[in-house]
Amino acid sequence: MLYCQGYPYRCWRLPVSSVQTLVVKIGTSSLTGTTSGQFALSTLAALVETLCVLRQQGHQVVLVSSGAVGIGCRRLNLAERPKTLAMKQAVAAVGQGRLMRIYDDLFSALNQPIAQVLLTRSDLSLRSRYVNSYRTFRQLLQLGVIPIVNENDTVAVEELKFGDNDTLSALVASLIGAQWLFLLTDVDRLYSADPRSNPEAQPIIAIDRLADIQALKAGAGGQGSAWGTGGMLTKLEAAQIATAAGVRTVITDGRQPHTIGQALAGEAVGTQFAPSPKPSRARKRWIAVGLAPSGRIHLDRGATQAILKRGKSLLAAGITHLDGNFEGQDAVVICDDSGTDIARGIVNYSAADLQLILGHRSEDIPGILGYEGADTVVHRDNLVVAADDSDTDEPWDDA
Ligand code: GLU
Repeated sequence: MLYCQGYPYRCWRLPVSSVQTLVVKIGTSSLTGTTSGQFALSTLAALVETLCVLRQQGHQVVLVSSGAVGIGCRRLNLAERPKTLAMKQAVAAVGQGRLMRIYDDLFSALNQPIAQVLLTRSDLSLRSRYVNSYRTFRQLLQLGVIPIVNENDTVAVEELKFGDNDTLSALVASLIGAQWLFLLTDVDRLYSADPRSNPEAQPIIAIDRLADIQALKAGAGGQGSAWGTGGMLTKLEAAQIATAAGVRTVITDGRQPHTIGQALAGEAVGTQFAPSPKPSRARKRWIAVGLAPSGRIHLDRGATQAILKRGKSLLAAGITHLDGNFEGQDAVVICDDSGTDIARGIVNYSAADLQLILGHRSEDIPGILGYEGADTVVHRDNLVVAADDSDTDEPWDDA
């Protein structure tokens, strides 16, 4: 983790001619004034202007924007955010149209076409829809359009929800193979402690290890932790998803959107999270980040080594215990004997069947279950090890 030790510090160098794909996420609190709930028009206009400049420089830009529920509440003169799902969905339906109207007015003033893309979790977890969503984004970006993405709040039922737009933006960045994810918020970067109460608080400029993200997440949940505003936990979780998919992630101030261009030019803007090597085959990327895991499988040391060092499939013999009530073909997290995540994969057996065969040799499985099951619990082709960069083919070769 790098604390601010004096400027200038260059986070990275971008070749001047390089065209980048970036996803920018803005939340409700940056879009609307904190007290009045009115549109923060100057912030919005500055953001729109910045994104148009980036487009004119040839970069591909996707905007993930919250605000449907907040704006819907204001339109309907509701004093507080709705509590029931039906009310939230109704209010989002009112607000989403108004949100797009504002964006269309602002982008049209600069002659920039935009598109509305509303997604639910299943659009990214079902392979056919994931590929279809990717193709739509690719087509829009080739047309020079800026897609504006939000969760499809009006139809998403609880179990199909992303939950928050930080997560949604990380998944979109991974889906389209973006180089950058900008999470705009109302502080300029992360700090080692709360800068409002602790004069010793150090600004954090760069984070390049997963362990540091995990340590910050633990602090973000705890008392007296360190954030200038709420919602940092979901941002750290989004950074973890995005960096695992090879996307450089920046947490920075939404009121200063021109800093996006400065970050692209290598300046030490915000807090920057270095990307892991990309899991490059499209299918593996989908397994790694598109699918929501339904359970966890814990391995003994031998099986952990076989997967991490020898590139083997996962067999029942090396499994010690399970969490979750998953079905066959669900996604699961695979962890070592200390509970640390080491891989993700698509499992061939339900949790109920796996409970019966764990610890047993593959040849004993038909006798235990009474049917001829798969030899492997997770086949190597359906397994993505953390920081697996062994494949070198094109990102969308098998899309
Ligand atoms: N989709 C929600 C909205 O537009 C926002 C979710 C979030 O704030 O992360 O109001």
